[in-house]
Amino acid sequence: MATQPQLTPTLAALLDQLGAIARPDGAALAAALAAPITFDDVRGFVRFDDENYTRALIYRDDRLELRLHCWRPGQSTSLHGHGASACAFKILRGTATESVLGDRDRVWAPGSVVVENAPRFHQVMNAGRDPLLTLHAYSPPLPIDAPSPRSGRQIVIVGGGFAGAAVAYHLLREMNGAGRIHLVEMGPWLGRGIAYGVESEVFRLNVPASRMSIDPETPDDFVKFSGSEAAPHAFLGRALYARYVTSRLAALVKSSPAKLRLWRDEAVAITRNAVVLRGGATLPAEAVVLATGIVPRVKHASYHPRVVDAWDECALATLPMEGRLLLLGSGLSALDVLAFLDAQGFAGEVTLVSPRGLLPLPHEPEFQGTTPLAAADADRAPQAIRPLVRWVRQTIAAAVAAGLPWQRAVDSLRPHVVRLYRALPQADRASFVRHVRPYWDVFRHRAPADALGRVDDWARTGRLRRLAGRVTIDGRGDPSAVTVAIRERAGGERRERFDAVVRCVGPALDVAEATTPLLQSLIDGGLAALAASGLGIETTTDGRVVDARGEASHRIFGIGAVRRACDWETTSVPDIAKHAQQLAREIARR
Ligand SMILES: Cc1cc2nc3c(=O)[nH]c(=O)nc-3n(C[C@H](O)[C@H](O)[C@H](O)COP(=O)(O)OP(=O)(O)OC[C@H]3O[C@@H](n4cnc5c(N)ncnc54)[C@H](O)[C@@H]3O)c2cc1C
Repeated sequence: MATQPQLTPTLAALLDQLGAIARPDGAALAAALAAPITFDDVRGFVRFDDENYTRALIYRDDRLELRLHCWRPGQSTSLHGHGASACAFKILRGTATESVLGDRDRVWAPGSVVVENAPRFHQVMNAGRDPLLTLHAYSPPLPIDAPSPRSGRQIVIVGGGFAGAAVAYHLLREMNGAGRIHLVEMGPWLGRGIAYGVESEVFRLNVPASRMSIDPETPDDFVKFSGSEAAPHAFLGRALYARYVTSRLAALVKSSPAKLRLWRDEAVAITRNAVVLRGGATLPAEAVVLATGIVPRVKHASYHPRVVDAWDECALATLPMEGRLLLLGSGLSALDVLAFLDAQGFAGEVTLVSPRGLLPLPHEPEFQGTTPLAAADADRAPQAIRPLVRWVRQTIAAAVAAGLPWQRAVDSLRPHVVRLYRALPQADRASFVRHVRPYWDVFRHRAPADALGRVDDWARTGRLRRLAGRVTIDGRGDPSAVTVAIRERAGGERRERFDAVVRCVGPALDVAEATTPLLQSLIDGGLAALAASGLGIETTTDGRVVDARGEASHRIFGIGAVRRACDWETTSVPDIAKHAQQLAREIARR
């Protein structure tokens, strides 16, 4: 048996100091760890392992524990909390990357002392190229001596936006044995993606709180979390929603026997039994869930320093507070930008240009559920785009004539949208997306009435103008203004100068624009096939990816926008939450 190394005077003094703390909370532990500690103080405890990081015990009594953790590059904990134990750790060598559930990643340099406050859930990893040594004090001691073993089932989720987080949540719940869920997310945090990756409370959900539960079996879960029982159909903040998602995930991280490990990397390839990351790691995977979401459009990107993106709240804060702004797009993201400008006290003028000049239509003042159209009636829908559009119009008009508000008439069709869309020939699906979708979207993706009220108010006072047309940005010349050419739908072209331009152009819909290295690898390897509509890859109704031979995979699944080519409307929380639960049950029961 290896003998315990002798404590150096510095370590002995540190232990005395830790032992003398009357109430050992994180801050007190951190204050003690702030004392200088050299490599020679811990050298005797350094032990690396090829498989996993190590946790060498330096000292333990009933109140206190001190450990040295040694990490080779790429090694990491899974996401975990410390229960009732206070914790602080110091970086001795190398660089530690810490992912805290709900926050952006933090990178800690040597000498940093980090306080871990309950009830946070975090993961520490060595994302650098050098070995990492960290010294950890816990009070009371943790009940674990070694990192959790790598045994059990290995499931990989690619994408850690809402869909990836929802699949992880349901898998942690459904997996009743040991196993590892590897979640690969290249962005800075987990559970947020584009939609909820904002911190400002200005940005609101466009779906009522009552429909935003991560758990289809507890529909009022978000309402209860947000304390909005008195107004369950309110449009709450997207940052609040992100906190909800991470809190629900944290509860499962705490209670599940399965482990969730976050990889801050891009998945670039999938083989028959593994997922390959850009950083070089290969993750064995018996099942892979593609939750890669939307790809933002590149149109008009990086032409000019004064052209910013609507989905980047920090870039919005760089906009001038007066003068002339051009918003490319007039959908929900453009309304978000107006809300942001309003909150910032913007005193200038705004021009909204979109190909058809359409604004989203308003939600009902009070959200009301609706009775779905009977399946027998939906079965009578034509299976070609033109007659289908006519049928949809007539069906909605008939419901409105019978006294139903148009919003509920539209919603009565929603349970049938996937089936109606799937029944279309591939060419008609593409035609729907190109020609009909912009009109469908304004009925379907509705806006809260007050957001539209702002458009009316600004238009009435001459601060907002709305044009239908196409814009070309002239990237040359003056960096303090942007010159554009606007070709109006009604005819004619004009050149104008703006102080800044905001891209509110939405996701790339065409696979030619939305192809990523991962998608390309799936197609090149024959593991996925492009849908003839040009809108993405083929999937089955239960989310299995269809390979080049037309066979549905038993191992690779898709959720959210990955299913768009075949299901179209599968990208909002109510659909994604339902699919996440179905996929998790399917994967866990094997
Ligand atoms: C601005 C905005 C507001 C919205 N508001 C609402 C709303 O109020 N209610 C509602 O129901 N829906 C809303 N939506 C719809 C939204 O699409 C869904 O709610 C949901 O957020 C989609 O999540 P997702 O995980 O599928 O996609 P995304 O949010 O796009 O997340 C995908 C994630 O995958 C990661 N990723 C992609 N490829 C890789 C790779 N190869 N390797 C590693 N990581 C990868 C990305 O970094 C990203 O974080 C909104 C959408 C937007 C854009």
